[in-house]
Amino acid sequence: MPAAPPARPRRPWRRRPRHRVANACISALAAALLAPALAACGNQAGQAPGSAAGRPKVLTSFTVLADMASAVACDRLEVVSITRPGSQIHGYEATPGDLRRGRGARLLLRNGLGLDRWTDRFSSRLGRLPQVDLSEGVATLPIEGAASGVNPHAWMSPRAALTYVENIRAAFSRLDPPGAATYRRCADAYAAQLRQLDRELAGRLAALPARHRLLVTCEGAFSYLARDYGLQEAWLWPVNGESELTPQRLQRLARTVRERRVPAVFCESTVDGRAQRRLAADTGARWGGTFHVDSLSGPEGPAPTYLALMRHNVDTLVRGLAPAAPAR
Ligand SMILES: [Zn+2]
Repeated sequence: MPAAPPARPRRPWRRRPRHRVANACISALAAALLAPALAACGNQAGQAPGSAAGRPKVLTSFTVLADMASAVACDRLEVVSITRPGSQIHGYEATPGDLRRGRGARLLLRNGLGLDRWTDRFSSRLGRLPQVDLSEGVATLPIEGAASGVNPHAWMSPRAALTYVENIRAAFSRLDPPGAATYRRCADAYAAQLRQLDRELAGRLAALPARHRLLVTCEGAFSYLARDYGLQEAWLWPVNGESELTPQRLQRLARTVRERRVPAVFCESTVDGRAQRRLAADTGARWGGTFHVDSLSGPEGPAPTYLALMRHNVDTLVRGLAPAAPAR
């Protein structure tokens, strides 16, 4: 039997409209409630400003949120990430090109918790574009050394991601009330996938023995995953862009790695991992690999969606820390 062709990777940071004319008509009915001046179906020149084929445009501050939002939007909205795959999202500075792409958007979804405050300026330059913090309602965790005192990386646990999905659904239903049933159906389907992911991660991480449960990374981005699946974490700096690597931090972490005989250390894709590789060489720990946290990978990479990102991270983590891990 021939092998099935590989699935076409999704590009959640820029989803193109399908069925252009049909969608224009369907969405125009919804958009008419949002933009009374909208012209008749089939008149491309009469589409609502900032919409593709009549679909209202929604921005997100980064690619992970764009993927979640696309899953809930079910092609009824155009979802665009302001930052591109691989971007450093903490303290991002929007470009004139970002502003051009954002023009006409109706809503901006961001993480909140101090991660993406830069969207305040972005939103005001787009005429006070309404913003929604998707982390609203998550039980937050503190982190020492962060300006806000709160660890912003709540999406790194699928259990917290369920709150993000509910916030996206509610925001979309307010933006486009005729689509409320669609958003409910798509949010429920995506939430079921997140619950499946949660069961999968819980099973895989439960298999790690207690002495192999210390996760050493560059940024302190794994607190929510660590809380929900019984891991410990140690890092080189608490939050990207807010705090820097110091010799004291490096020495303290190296001491911990030696004392706890940590088998492997890791870093994230959006930061420079050279200090962590040096620490690995100095302590005898192995280089465990690269996590994706603040950004999806491109479509050909290991983390083109949020679900793939979480599976890639846990695969990398278990491969590095499991006692039977082969030496590299
Ligand atoms: Zn981060």
